[in-house]
Amino acid sequence: MPWAYQGIHGRMYTVAQLIGGVWGAGGEGGELVVHDPADGTPVSSVPVATAEEVSKAVEAARGAAEEWAATPPAERAAALHRAADAVAAVAAELAQATTAEMGKPLADARGGVDAGVGTLHQYAELAPVRGGRTLHGATEAIDFMLPQPRGVVAAITPWNDPVAVSCGLLGAALVTGNVVLYKPSERTPATGWLLAKTLDGALPAGVLSLLTGGPEVGAALAAQRVDVLAHVGSTATGRSIAAAAAQTGAKVLLENGGSDPLVVDGNVDPVWAAQQAALGAFANAGQICVAVERIYVHRDVAEDFVDALVDRAQALRSGPGADPATELGPLVDRRHRDHVHGQVTAAVAQGARIRTGGALPDGPGAHYPATVVSDCRHDMPLVREETFAPVAPVVVVDSFSEALRCAADSPYGLAATVLTASMSHAQRAWRELPVGTVKVNAVFGGAPGGAAHPRRGSGQGFGYGPELLDEFTATKAVHLEAPGGGHW
Ligand code: NAD
Repeated sequence: MPWAYQGIHGRMYTVAQLIGGVWGAGGEGGELVVHDPADGTPVSSVPVATAEEVSKAVEAARGAAEEWAATPPAERAAALHRAADAVAAVAAELAQATTAEMGKPLADARGGVDAGVGTLHQYAELAPVRGGRTLHGATEAIDFMLPQPRGVVAAITPWNDPVAVSCGLLGAALVTGNVVLYKPSERTPATGWLLAKTLDGALPAGVLSLLTGGPEVGAALAAQRVDVLAHVGSTATGRSIAAAAAQTGAKVLLENGGSDPLVVDGNVDPVWAAQQAALGAFANAGQICVAVERIYVHRDVAEDFVDALVDRAQALRSGPGADPATELGPLVDRRHRDHVHGQVTAAVAQGARIRTGGALPDGPGAHYPATVVSDCRHDMPLVREETFAPVAPVVVVDSFSEALRCAADSPYGLAATVLTASMSHAQRAWRELPVGTVKVNAVFGGAPGGAAHPRRGSGQGFGYGPELLDEFTATKAVHLEAPGGGHW
């Protein structure tokens, strides 16, 4: 079998594409090799799609679209439940592949897979019970609104939580009757392949396709005449996908980068606030879209807060994600690490002070220490840009109003967290901050099914929650009257 699973470390994953319901198709664009960021050993061998293969895959997918759209919604939902069960059955393998390809601690990787399974089941439950609207205009007429599949969806996904993010897009798009071309990140292609293989086993042939390769494959897909381009990834990529969609007329759904602020009010326990900050800035080595990227701390608690944050950073056990004792895994690769280190070094040159971390470790892999940088100013690129690393830049402010002003002043609008003992400050935060999500007194968390509606450079459209089902459907308004004479 061309796509036989071969395990990790010493034996590589051999990824295959799925085009027109056929595994192992294409790959004439060459081979891509993914290396384990913990130690630099090769993990996955991946075929690269050519632009022609991408075009053929879209054509084949369109051929399967009509039948899947006509499949009763309850049947599609049942298929998605079966797919979710199948993913749950290979959860350990998926977690292992995630850790091997992008480095996160195995328990976190498993958490991402479990979240993905939950999302698939949730969409399978929600899709058939979605209510349309009935309108009441004329007495003799009926008007109703009918959700219909949009057709062909391209789902282009990132590496940082590959299973959870992909399950959201794929589950919502498939259960609403769309066919999907899935292009996982070139940094986690074997994880994407294992997921696609598992989902495909529970779906009719041709409904799901898998294309692998780098940015050029994503760009080739974005240039195709598809109905929806759904992208989770960086803001720069999202913008180029939106530009491509402007040429084809595809609907664009973008969940992109962020530079989420953490505001620490002067009335909170600085040690507790530092625990929250450490969790927000260092979990998944800071490679979470809603990670804490910049901290505005009130002068009254700043010193104690920074000291406690440094303690937390130094207490983290770093190592390979496959070691159960590891709390801080490596960054995804050395290219990313060089970028991050450049940002930290530039901030120091501009007057910031490294309190812990900030040095490139010796040895293989892409490890980077948990880093606390104090004496930052709001206008520094380290504060304003997304770092996507375990780096916590701290800016001291003199008032809650100043903190809110700085927090709001960003090209991004993903999420924000405020730690405060004042209800009126909390209210100001959720009213005034121009972001999709505001969290009060917890850096992470939220009810299952929570939506995310990013603003500014962080994207457009609902990326999660039941609202994602609406994004993947087009609403048709139907007006119904009896023929002339009034009888049917
Ligand atoms: P990325 O945009 O570089 O890559 C994501 C996907 O886009 C990959 O599959 C890649 O091959 C593809 N791609 C790259 N260039 C392309 C192009 N020109 N046209 C079409 N496709 C292209 O992002 P990444 O580095 O994989 O992920 C990290 C980023 O994702 C961070 O900015 C993070 O904040 C963001 N992210 C956002 C969310 C969210 O929900 N808002 C969730 C996770 C990650």
